[in-house]
Amino acid sequence: MQLPREVIVGKGTLARLPEVVKRLGLKGKALVLSDAQCYEIAGKTVSGFLEQSGLTVDFLLVKSMTVDDLIKVEEQLKDQKPRVLFGVGGGTIIDAAKLSSASQNIPFVSIPTTVSHDGIASPLASIKGSDKPYSILAQAPMAIIADTEVIANAPWRFVVSGCGDVISKFTAVKDWKLAHLEKGEYYGGYAASLALMSAKLVSENANLIAEKKNEGLRILLEALISCGVAMSIAGSSRPCSGSEHLFSHALDIINSNHAIHGEQCGVGSILTSFLHGSNWQKIKSTLKQIGAPTTAQELGVKDMDIVKALQMAAHIRPERYTILHKLNLNFDACETVARATGIIS
Ligand SMILES: [Zn+2]
Repeated sequence: MQLPREVIVGKGTLARLPEVVKRLGLKGKALVLSDAQCYEIAGKTVSGFLEQSGLTVDFLLVKSMTVDDLIKVEEQLKDQKPRVLFGVGGGTIIDAAKLSSASQNIPFVSIPTTVSHDGIASPLASIKGSDKPYSILAQAPMAIIADTEVIANAPWRFVVSGCGDVISKFTAVKDWKLAHLEKGEYYGGYAASLALMSAKLVSENANLIAEKKNEGLRILLEALISCGVAMSIAGSSRPCSGSEHLFSHALDIINSNHAIHGEQCGVGSILTSFLHGSNWQKIKSTLKQIGAPTTAQELGVKDMDIVKALQMAAHIRPERYTILHKLNLNFDACETVARATGIIS
């Protein structure tokens, strides 16, 4: 079980980097991985604080993060041999930092500039263009430093997406429990409770988030970090990724102009909550309150893409038993579910 040693969340927390570096005993060379925009927003400040802490700092800016880009980052790590990698950016950069540092056996520190999904603290990462559309095990961050001042300046849509990802844990945990009861799969009550509590807290505080209050943002960040910890405890993405995530992965494959991960997971959660016979209306109303998409149109995809994705979802990961595997719905049944929940009209 890998857990972060330091988690610092709040306004202006980047300034606390020197004390974190000292406590973690980091010395020697550090590499800051970012993209041009995030480097301007936060990477520069991070580099400055790291230099102040006595580290020798280099930076590597990437434009995109495909399998080829990842190989280049790994080559740079082999070449420069930093002692620690700082990932400064959105989900893609954090994932790249996680994967490349794990492959080179060095620790990484997660410094998110957006809160679009729970990868900021989890040991799992996904990479575009790989043969697996879902996340694979890499390593958990050694520390997470989340500055709400930086995050509040990112487009609001990322916050909405982060909320969708957290709220989708209601169905992820239901799927996990189902796999435990029907297939004897390992089920960790503590990890499940942690994921569920995060979903509850975000739902209960939807008004604070919708009003863009700093407290709401902090609750969301803590929820996303707790989800990451839940995955570390479980040793897999199980507590945080069920049928609704499979639906989102399927939508990514079907529609190249897909929406953001958390937005799709939220919609997926409405659909699969309906299939579980749970309170899907509550999930839908909470997402609406936050301003998250709850229809195909709001997601920017065709009605039929929703139906196709719901049917395809179970085939993406046959080994990950969920309500979709149990029910094995045909196309017509998927369409009925999408209509009944008002996702398509
Ligand atoms: Zn997710």
